[in-house]
Amino acid sequence: MTVTKDIPQLAIIIPCYNEEACVKQTTERLLEVLDTFINKGIIKNSSYLFFIDDGSKDLTWPIIEEMHSKDTRVKGTKFIRNFGNQKALMAGLESVREIGCDCVVSIDADLQQDEWAIEKFIEQYRNGYDIVLGIRNDRKTDSFFKKTTALMFYKTMNLLGANIPQNHSDFRLISKRTLDIMELYPEKLFFLRGFFHEVGLPTTYVMFDVKQRMAGTSKFNFSSLMGLALNGITSYSIIPLRFVAVLGFFMALFGFAVGVETIIEKLFWHNSPNGWATTIVLLAAFGGIQLFCLGIIGEYVGQLYREVKSRPRYIKDKELR
Ligand code: UDP
Ligand code: MG
Repeated sequence: MTVTKDIPQLAIIIPCYNEEACVKQTTERLLEVLDTFINKGIIKNSSYLFFIDDGSKDLTWPIIEEMHSKDTRVKGTKFIRNFGNQKALMAGLESVREIGCDCVVSIDADLQQDEWAIEKFIEQYRNGYDIVLGIRNDRKTDSFFKKTTALMFYKTMNLLGANIPQNHSDFRLISKRTLDIMELYPEKLFFLRGFFHEVGLPTTYVMFDVKQRMAGTSKFNFSSLMGLALNGITSYSIIPLRFVAVLGFFMALFGFAVGVETIIEKLFWHNSPNGWATTIVLLAAFGGIQLFCLGIIGEYVGQLYREVKSRPRYIKDKELR
C-alpha cells in the first residue's frame, strides 16, 4: 500500500500491575522514544504516554504521578482493583480515544518488546495500514510451560477458524478508525486479538526481538492464562458447541447400533452375560464424554452469565490527563 498519511499524534498505552521496579525507567525510555520520533518528524509533538495502573499494591501509581508532575505527556489512570491485563488495555484504548490521537501503540511495562520497533509500526501506519501487529522473532525468553500452552492455544484457535498469528503478544499499533469501530462492540468480555483478526481492516506485521523482563517477575500465572485462553475461545467461536451437537448425534447413532447388536445377540445366540468389559468401557467413555460436553456448554453459559449481568469492564479510581 502507498497511501502516506499525515504525521500522526501517537499515544502509547502501558498496562502496569505491580511494576514499581520498571515503571520509572520505562517512562524515561518511552519519552526518549517520543522525543527521537518528534525530532525525526515522524510523529506530532502532542504525542503522549498513557499508563493504566491495574490496581497495583506497590509504588507504581505514585511513581506515575511523580513522572506526570515533571512531564504532562505522562498521563494515566488507576483502577480501583486488579481487573487483568486485557481490561487494562481496553481502558487504555478507550481513554486515548477520548483524549485524542491518530494511532495508538500498546506495549508492556517491562519493555520486553522492542520499543524502537514502534518506528516501523508508524511507517506501516502511514503506508495505510490500520492494524500493525508486532510478531516475536522467537519465544526464547518464555518458559517451556508457557511456550507449550501458548502453542496449544493458537492451534486450538486456528482449528476454530481464528487465524490469530502465533507469537503475537499485545504489542501492536491501531489507528483511530479501528478505535472507532471497537466502540461498536458492546460486549464486556472483549477478546482483543480475536477482534483485530475479525474486523478485517488492512493489517500488517512487524518482526521484533524479545528481550528479558527489565525487572520484577511475570504477572501472569496458570489460572490467569487459562482464563485468557478460555475467554478467547468462548467469546470468539461457537464451533465447540457445534462440535458437542455433532458428537452427540454420532454417539446416539453408535448407542443405537450397540443396542440393536445386544438384542440380536440375546435373541439368536443367548450369550448375553458376556460383555462385562464392554459395559464398563462404554459407561466410562460415555460418562467422560458427557462431562466434557457439559463443561464446554458450561463455559458458554458462564460467558452469557457474565455478559448478561453487563457489569462495567473496569472501574477507574484516579486519572491524570
Ligand atoms: N499486567 C496487568 N495486569 C495484570 C497482569 C499483567 O496490567 O493483571 C501487565 C503487566 O504489568 C505488564 C503486561 O501486563 O505490563 C504483561 O505482563 P507480564 O510482563 O507480567 O507478562 P509476560 O511478559 O510474562 O507474559
Ligand atoms: Mg513481560
